[in-house]
Formats: sequence, structure tokens, C-alpha cells
Amino acid sequence: MANEFEGACLCGKVQYMVKGPFLRFFLCHCSRCRRSSGSAHGANVFTRAANVTFTAGEDKVKRFDLPDAEQFARAFCTECGSPVPYLSRDKKVYVVAVGGLKDFEGRKVDAMVHWDSRSAWYDGALEAPRKTAADLANS
Ligand SMILES: [Zn+2]
Ligand SMILES: [Zn+2]
Repeated sequence: MANEFEGACLCGKVQYMVKGPFLRFFLCHCSRCRRSSGSAHGANVFTRAANVTFTAGEDKVKRFDLPDAEQFARAFCTECGSPVPYLSRDKKVYVVAVGGLKDFEGRKVDAMVHWDSRSAWYDGALEAPRKTAADLANS
């Protein structure tokens, strides 16, 4: 299994390398993750602070620490808004939005967390038809 992965934002200005060992891989259904991702859940892997290196565009990264939250934060590219890795407030761990990594296979998903906060429509989504790009092109 590969242990090092390239990451980038959508516009490509921010680039980074992320290494394992990966401590956890969670899909988080909490309301903060849903709202800040605009999606069903956050999808984050965690790795020690020394294992993330920005190789381009670190000056384009803006960080947001949610007031009143103990830990919750975000970091994103100021050009395109894509999430990028951010350091936990105790500076021990990087939280890495796994969708930004190329061909990630460093760890299997450990758990879907805050399952009781999942969107009302999510259970139905798991049963929706699967369509490939080819299916969509032909429909
Ligand atoms: Zn970008
Ligand atoms: Zn969450």
C-alpha cells in the first residue's frame, strides 16, 4: 500500500504532499461538516503534523477556526475554495480532506461518525442507482 499521496485544490494553486501512517479515516456527518462541505459528510484522514508538506501556494491558504468550537476549523484555497489540510489547534495532527488527494489508498474508512446527525435524505441516497459518466453521457 502506498504511503505518500499528492494533494491539490481544484484550481491547482495549492499543492501538498501527505504521508502516513494515517491515524484515522472518518466520514463525519455532524452539522458542521455537512454545512462547511455542502455535502452529506466530511471525509478526513488524520496524520501527524510532520507528515504534511505544502509544495506550492501556501500563501493562498486561509484558515478559519470556528468560534466557540473546541477543535473545529477549516482551511481552504482563497482562489477556488477547495478544502486543504489544516493543523489541529494543539498542532499535533493534520486534518486532511481526503477528496483532495490523488488516488488515496492509505487507510480504509474507520467509521462514519456522528451518524445520528446524518441528513434526512442520506439513507435514501445509499439506495439510489449508481450511474457512471458513460451512463450519463448516454442518457
Ligand atoms: Zn485553488
Ligand atoms: Zn464533523
